[in-house]
Amino acid sequence: PSHYTFRTSPYLIAIDFQDAFATATLFSELPLSIRTQEGLKRANFIELTDIQRKAIPLALAGRDILGAAKTGSGKTLAFLVPFLVVNGRQSASYTGKTSQILELLYRAKWSQFDGLGALVISPTRELAVQIFEVLKKIGRQHLLSAGLIIGGKDLIIEQERVNRMNILVCTPGRLLQHMDQTVGFDCGNLQLLVLDEADRILDMGFEKTLNAIIDNLSKQRQTLLFSATQTKSVRDLGRLSLKNPEYVAVHEKS
Ligand code: ADP
Ligand code: MG
Repeated sequence: PSHYTFRTSPYLIAIDFQDAFATATLFSELPLSIRTQEGLKRANFIELTDIQRKAIPLALAGRDILGAAKTGSGKTLAFLVPFLVVNGRQSASYTGKTSQILELLYRAKWSQFDGLGALVISPTRELAVQIFEVLKKIGRQHLLSAGLIIGGKDLIIEQERVNRMNILVCTPGRLLQHMDQTVGFDCGNLQLLVLDEADRILDMGFEKTLNAIIDNLSKQRQTLLFSATQTKSVRDLGRLSLKNPEYVAVHEKS
């Protein structure tokens, strides 16, 4: 299928994108689908935070990101917004810079029939629920299915639904359980992986689980890794999961 080829020259596209959108301060200045723009506006997200301003243009360009920013800096939207572009439909009327927009249009052919396109892994159930709530808010205009896979619920019911989802927000243990036990659960077409709070995922002892999960995923995917701190184990995970990553850090102003 056509989805596989869009990353043939991510680096060139990234340069275009960085130049074109590096100065954006508002969500409305970014080349987002009308559906996403409406979701953001309704939820009253207007101005970009620092991490969003730095990370979103790179993520839209297809780059892998190793991002560091403290709690409360707005990392959730920094990874969910690119998410919806990969999986949603671009506004055909967007007439800005051409080449990268074509790339995005190409990528945007994802529909509810294309299976799992994007995956967020979060350390805890509570954080996964929060991410899912934000996704529901800003993604409500999209014709995509999204599911929350965090354990503590009936596995059989989840197994019936999980194969129909385009976007999943998961905790590591439950996700691996589906990979091991759910017939037909296929992550081979995955376009975008997000590891949120990677330092905490590792602190909680999920390193082996994560490695096993990553082994099951398409190598062609884009990966965004966010962490509050940059430890050695986060860098090791980055080496394992990211390709030619762009480092994005937002430092606290003193
Ligand atoms: P982090 O994951 O970095 O800890 P969150 O993504 O949870 O941060 O965001 C922290 C808070 O900031 C949330 O209440 C969120 O709604 C709010 N927020 C995030 N981005 C924006 C924005 N662009 N404009 C206004 N509020 C925002
Ligand atoms: Mg967060």
